[in-house]
Amino acid sequence: SEMLALEGITKAYNRGKPAEVTVLRGATLSVARGEVVALVAPSGAGKSTLLHIAGLLDTPDTGVVRLAGRDMGGLGDRARTEARRGQVGFIYQFHHLLPEFTALENIVLPQLANGASRRVAEARAMDLLGRVGVAARASHRPAALSGGEQQRVAFCRALANAPQLLLADEPTGNLDPGTSEQVFGALMELVRETGLSALIATHNMDLAARMDRVVRLDQGRVV
Ligand code: ADP
Ligand code: ADP
Repeated sequence: SEMLALEGITKAYNRGKPAEVTVLRGATLSVARGEVVALVAPSGAGKSTLLHIAGLLDTPDTGVVRLAGRDMGGLGDRARTEARRGQVGFIYQFHHLLPEFTALENIVLPQLANGASRRVAEARAMDLLGRVGVAARASHRPAALSGGEQQRVAFCRALANAPQLLLADEPTGNLDPGTSEQVFGALMELVRETGLSALIATHNMDLAARMDRVVRLDQGRVV
């Protein structure tokens, strides 16, 4: 069954102004439960816009967004935020970890915000860190970690609240090729073990080829 469906999505920035730029022109895409889809496109093609719409961070001008079969169109801001928190995890090119907190706390805090007890949150954070091979770094702040370790911690944070859908925007884009390969491998293991659905934007065709399906964003449409 389908985890994410985007149907006929259109999006323009600065609508009605001289600087109007149309980014999406009827993009249609679905991700099945447990499926990992690569989203490939040149820079500026609208990958981030599409991911933000899929993750309920932004709304399309027209078109339908369904998460787990539920139409997100009629929801108010509060219901959208709740749907996002409960179902979607994000990973960005740059980790965006909180610099003043340890790796562990960065994974614990979103769980506390979601109503978990500290005991459960810490146990889950340690389990996730162990799965991506950075348990020994739990008490370090991000600045003390390598780029690859920082990104592994960011993966754990994205999965902290057990989302059903992972959205990733160039998740290894700022790492050197060798590190990128290792860190991507760790991400894919984590995704497969947890049975997550994922939509992962990447420029790297070698990484894209390891996903279940590759889609391209071309002229505002998914091909
Ligand atoms: P990608 O992630 O593929 O690089 P984006 O979705 O970030 O592409 O951007 C697609 C296009 O929309 C680009 O031309 C970008 O400059 C433009 N754009 C993105 N965000 C905004 C915004 N907030 N206001 C105006 N234009 C934007
Ligand atoms: P919280 O309020 O608990 O910090 P949110 O529901 O605001 O969480 O955000 C959920 C996820 O979406 C977080 O990973 C956050 O970093 C990301 N996020 C929120 N707003 C934006 C935005 N405007 N652009 C990109 N990412 C965002």
